[in-house]
Amino acid sequence: MRIVKLKKEYFHPFLDVISRQAELWAPVKKGDKHIFDRVEDFNRIEMKTTRTLLPPKKLLVPPAFNTFTFNAEGYQEDLSHVSSKILFGIHPCDIHGLLTLDKLFMHEYTDPYYVKARQKTLILGLSCWPDEYCFAKSTRTHIIDEGFDLFFTDLEDFFLVWVGSSQGDDLLRMKPDLFEETLSDSDIQRYIRWQTERDKAYRTEINFMAMPDLMELKYKAPFWEEAGRACLACGSCSMVCPTCNCYNVLDKLALGGKPGRRLRLWDSCTLVEYSEVAGGENFREHKADRLRLWYTHKLQAYVSKYGKPSCVGCGRCLVTCPVEINVRTISKALEGEDPKAFWYRLPSEVKP
Ligand code: SF4
Ligand code: SF4
Repeated sequence: MRIVKLKKEYFHPFLDVISRQAELWAPVKKGDKHIFDRVEDFNRIEMKTTRTLLPPKKLLVPPAFNTFTFNAEGYQEDLSHVSSKILFGIHPCDIHGLLTLDKLFMHEYTDPYYVKARQKTLILGLSCWPDEYCFAKSTRTHIIDEGFDLFFTDLEDFFLVWVGSSQGDDLLRMKPDLFEETLSDSDIQRYIRWQTERDKAYRTEINFMAMPDLMELKYKAPFWEEAGRACLACGSCSMVCPTCNCYNVLDKLALGGKPGRRLRLWDSCTLVEYSEVAGGENFREHKADRLRLWYTHKLQAYVSKYGKPSCVGCGRCLVTCPVEINVRTISKALEGEDPKAFWYRLPSEVKP
């Protein structure tokens, strides 16, 4: 893969050229959090974020969007959520998250709403530094060699830029004089030192190799009930997870001859309505059963189909769940350790 060098002073001039081709989206500050937002003032871009509140999936399949309108004569597809976008600042774990969605929405079953948005989106990755919640090294999603058009490694006064696709190469060719094709030994040494230090900075480790067997062996362990008692069934863990992909459809009828709409909305298997069927039967009425399903998907089922977990180690569930139910505490409980979590300390008389 070709690697070039971009001095920091040329970064904004480069964005200036490429942002004339498509909407530029990047991480920006919102309160004490970071979000992906459309950017016209490049000074708003936050280069040192750990994680955004929502992952970049929100730009490919928005939380709620219209799929088509309909009336007595037929239906009209609505692709208004699709536009040409350049997403800058996507960290390796989130690129792995998008690769997971690609597998689910573009291969076995084709989802036209996702595919059309994906085809119009360029991914410009950015290196990052882990905080105490990030464990992408345990999922081997801290490194990335596919799924991006360009990837920027930030080495303080310059970037090393990996060219991952012909569209990425086309972006560089818009302003080729900004990039240096030859790297010095000191540039290379600087990158090696950065990578070694970055790898040492991971403080959270999870043994994902053991998880599929432990999910099987501990399927009926009492801690599931304890976690279920504490779970608020709020669905936040699914909303923030880059690999959660379930959705609901809702028909909105209109009176007076106006067309109706079919909406598509993010859904979560932790919500009580998720497993409810006609007639009022609910296959997973209890929160413990719903949590077990969520973690089966993350730690076991995806591994048996694709050989790796569907968790990419972003840490969003760790910083989001109000009662500390997350991949770190559940994996500790699966290993028979005290997860040192709020939900584990709840008195047993608190009913599910
Ligand atoms: S399970 Fe948690 S840490 Fe893993 S990808 Fe989802 S939100 Fe991130
Ligand atoms: S596990 Fe946490 S974030 Fe997920 S539904 Fe339960 S309370 Fe909400």
